[in-house]
Amino acid sequence: MKILSVNAGSSSLKFQMYEMPEEKALISGNFERIGIHNSFYTIKINGEKIKKEMDLPNHKVAFETLVKELEENKVVDSLEEISGIGHRVVQGGAYFDKTVVIDDDVIAKIEELNVLAPLHNPAAITGIKAAMEVIPNAVQTAVFDTAFHQTMPEENYIYAVPYEWYTDYKVRRYGAHGTSHMYVANRMNEILGRTDTKLITCHLGNGASVSAVVNGKCVNTSMGLTPNAGLIMGSRCGDMDATVVTYMMDQLKVSPAEMDILLNKKSGLLGVTNLSSDMRDIDAGVLEGNERCELVKRMFVNRVVEYIAKYYVEMNGCDAIVFTAGIGENSITTRRRIVNKLGVLGIYLDEEANDSRGEEKLITTADSKIPCYVIPTDEELMIDRDTYSLAK
Ligand code: ADP
Repeated sequence: MKILSVNAGSSSLKFQMYEMPEEKALISGNFERIGIHNSFYTIKINGEKIKKEMDLPNHKVAFETLVKELEENKVVDSLEEISGIGHRVVQGGAYFDKTVVIDDDVIAKIEELNVLAPLHNPAAITGIKAAMEVIPNAVQTAVFDTAFHQTMPEENYIYAVPYEWYTDYKVRRYGAHGTSHMYVANRMNEILGRTDTKLITCHLGNGASVSAVVNGKCVNTSMGLTPNAGLIMGSRCGDMDATVVTYMMDQLKVSPAEMDILLNKKSGLLGVTNLSSDMRDIDAGVLEGNERCELVKRMFVNRVVEYIAKYYVEMNGCDAIVFTAGIGENSITTRRRIVNKLGVLGIYLDEEANDSRGEEKLITTADSKIPCYVIPTDEELMIDRDTYSLAK
């Protein structure tokens, strides 16, 4: 059975197709600059990467092109072979605690939540509608970034602001990256050989978040109403005194929309260094003796450590800590700095094991009280697994 995972952005469409239940990756790719000039797409198949330039006026044309490529590359003989399409949706609010088959009601609820994810949810709807038109026989599912975090207890998701903000405006912590946290938590439990575990999962990418997971269920997470909470990220500020926002809006005479851009796109690693939002550039800067890079690296590491300490106490212990995503999987120096601050918990880095990138690996010494693992995340596979279970 062939299952497609889809991640639609406002001008992009990423996809990956698996043969299920074997979980064999067949083809993946990305359509970029949809609706903009100079659009193109890339496809990865049989270890080969192909790039083609073509006019992509909208997502429907991108799907039609995708279908043509699937047929031409003999991934499918006919459209009927595609049994399920899983769509990544960023914001599912309190409506969705798991992956669901899409119907009119689901679409209406995703649209209702547009206000909470104005860039992402409308793009997902565009992708869903285009897929339904081009591949109408497939079961279409919505996989929510927020769903995994719906098990958080009330005291961890209500903000200490007027309660009506929650009841009337849906203001609360929802979290994000749920598909990734769930994937690595499940994999960690497989490695530990049991499910009655307390885990801290650190998804450290351009966007970054930490979750506390007890018995496979999320009990707390660092992202909030939106992804701009918790850790310091590529260009997002993460946690800070909320009054900074109103104070600086007044000082700079900027609108809420302009402030939103400053906090989401001009802050974080980029804001402090005025150099780059990419950890590779920050790491290079540290090596060259750039003081701001060194400063932001220490800030980034401290914030991760704060969350690990918080969740360790909150869960009354921890069985394993997981690092994943671009930085978690690849930044040897970031992991080293984080783990070297955890000695008080009896956690010690195995320098040799940590000297690796993108591999599943135990990176702490055998005598560490809590093992730390690198587990590469695979959100597409998680989407395909969920979709397969609903489509089969
Ligand atoms: P997202 O999916 O949120 O865009 P990723 O999970 O791809 O982000 O992570 C991107 C981050 O990972 C960037 O900050 C990038 O610098 C970092 N990264 C990737 N490879 C390395 C590396 N070899 N060393 C340090 N950081 C890396």
